Amino acid sequence: MILPMRKGGSAGYDLAVLDADATVADYLAALEAALRLLPLTRTRKPAALPAGRGCNGCTACCAERIPLTSVDYRQLARVTSLDLLPQVADVSRAGPSVDIVLKRTPAGRCIFLNPETGLCRVYHARPFVCRTFICCPVSRRADELRGAVTNAGEDELARLWLAGGSVPAGVDPADFRSGAFTGRWGYREIRLRECVPSSLWRRLYQATRGKPPRRGGR
Ligand code: SF4
Ligand code: SF4
Repeated sequence: MILPMRKGGSAGYDLAVLDADATVADYLAALEAALRLLPLTRTRKPAALPAGRGCNGCTACCAERIPLTSVDYRQLARVTSLDLLPQVADVSRAGPSVDIVLKRTPAGRCIFLNPETGLCRVYHARPFVCRTFICCPVSRRADELRGAVTNAGEDELARLWLAGGSVPAGVDPADFRSGAFTGRWGYREIRLRECVPSSLWRRLYQATRGKPPRRGGR
């Protein structure tokens, strides 16, 4: 459940999980509903662009790092018929980790951004990070949930990639264990509680038993 929140005069959101079996798809649906219903303040939109709730022509976040989950990859592969590598993703080593991100053009924009219209060419299959980013104030627990799901999904994509035999120096495939995304190819199949550490789950999950959920997550 998405809860309205204000910070420094700007409208943002907090998040509580009311169903122990809630999935990533439930989270995405709740956020999409909040986008329609809540007057969320876009804190990064240039002042020159039209005012209002929505992004209204701003594409600033389509020039940033977009990590991919294993489910994102499957969805993008389905709609674009492109190979993950080297057409869609850049893979790099980050210490003992592997970073797999959406490719950008030489101008630094996402390869799926239409520069003429400012629209996403894969909107219905855009990655989890794109679907969950709104440049408005967000509570700590909501931000941590987004990060935990992203990391779990990117680790699974890296695990699959490493299993294919491409192992860069300094990376140990044994560090990439099976997790919430393993063997699952849709966000409906992935439970939130399997993506997050127990300490975060305790802060997110509120069994309401008919009572209204507590606001103001840390
Ligand atoms: S969410 Fe992204 S596109 Fe929308 S206003 Fe914020 S930075 Fe711009
Ligand atoms: S996939 Fe679409 S929404 Fe995501 S960064 Fe690229 S153009 Fe923007």
